[in-house]
Amino acid sequence: MAAEQQQQQIPQQIQSPPTQTVSSTPSTPQPQSTVPSPAPTPNQPSLLPARSTVTRGKYSIGDFEIKRTLGTGSFGRVHLVRSRYNRLYYAIKVLKKAQVVHMKQVEHTNDERRMLKLVDHPFLIRIWGTFQDANCLFMVMDYIEGGELFSLLRKSQRFPNPVAKFYAAQVTLALEYLHAHNIIYRDLKPENILLDRRGNIRITDFGFAKEVPDVTYTMCGTPDYIAPEVIARKAYNKSVDWWSLGILVFEMLTGYTPFYDQTPMRTYENVLKGDVRYPAYILPEARNLLSGLITRDLTRRLGNLAGGSTDITSHPWFREVEWDRILRREIDTPYEPPIRHAGDASLFEYYPEEELNYGVQGQDDYGNLFPDF
Ligand code: AMP
Repeated sequence: MAAEQQQQQIPQQIQSPPTQTVSSTPSTPQPQSTVPSPAPTPNQPSLLPARSTVTRGKYSIGDFEIKRTLGTGSFGRVHLVRSRYNRLYYAIKVLKKAQVVHMKQVEHTNDERRMLKLVDHPFLIRIWGTFQDANCLFMVMDYIEGGELFSLLRKSQRFPNPVAKFYAAQVTLALEYLHAHNIIYRDLKPENILLDRRGNIRITDFGFAKEVPDVTYTMCGTPDYIAPEVIARKAYNKSVDWWSLGILVFEMLTGYTPFYDQTPMRTYENVLKGDVRYPAYILPEARNLLSGLITRDLTRRLGNLAGGSTDITSHPWFREVEWDRILRREIDTPYEPPIRHAGDASLFEYYPEEELNYGVQGQDDYGNLFPDF
């Protein structure tokens, strides 16, 4: 697609430290996504309906009261909102079209919508619908009240082995599901893992998720978590997510990422070298799993071998994990977020609010680039 092919330069750094997201694509033509776009349908009343009836432009910003900002992304922000109709709370991600175009993220943004619409899993965020005005794109999602795993991890410094294992098991099931649908997630990190009111995970931000049956080339992700083959601009496959899982589990167990450095460039150098120092308190079985995931050699990386993801789920570190019960959310979570009332957002960081100019009609220079919103 033209937008992806245009991205030929060095990795572009976007957003705030310590874990900013990057994205750029080499000139190699990309396989096209084969996921069908939803057929446009006429506008319908703005009550939030069953998910199966998500249609184009069903809502407008006037259907919601905007409460506060929950997070900021590279091209916009995520707001807590309340439906004026059913009084329920939702999260709306807003992207500024001009910024998306400027950052050459048109295809990624259309992919994000398509992937979100496609997936249906207990550990992945649910989307209800999308719409656009002259300046912005809007995605209406479930509001996940418990905040980011990132915040819990920073507060806890590091997680005890069983806690890390619980979250790792849920993430593993989510990745397995995505990969079974030929979707690479490409941006696994604790900021993108939210906790629901019971303490189960929901992965959000599908900004880099893409349907890739075999290999792809786009340079994207977040420096600390990116696999070496992505940095080296080689063809890569789903196993980049298993590398990131290794980084995530290491971070949960230690409180820091193994290749962290002062600048993204130095982090990349560390990733390419691939030397990991495991603190002595990491148990041997965890260390064995981590060294199987955080391995540069793709012929040895767990998840990329003949056994596929079962090499991970059957690894001794996960021995006592009852996978079916984890999937059914029957296992007690290690932490229940202290949510006081519906719409409580106290577990999210504070972001200064800016003046909003949503719902603008009139000249729309980019609307044709986002036909499905
Ligand atoms: P994103 O731009 O998708 O990475 O989202 C930025 C931040 O907004 C995330 O890291 C979360 O803190 C927050 N966020 C995103 N989606 C949701 C959601 N569905 N519910 C609650 N918070 C969210």
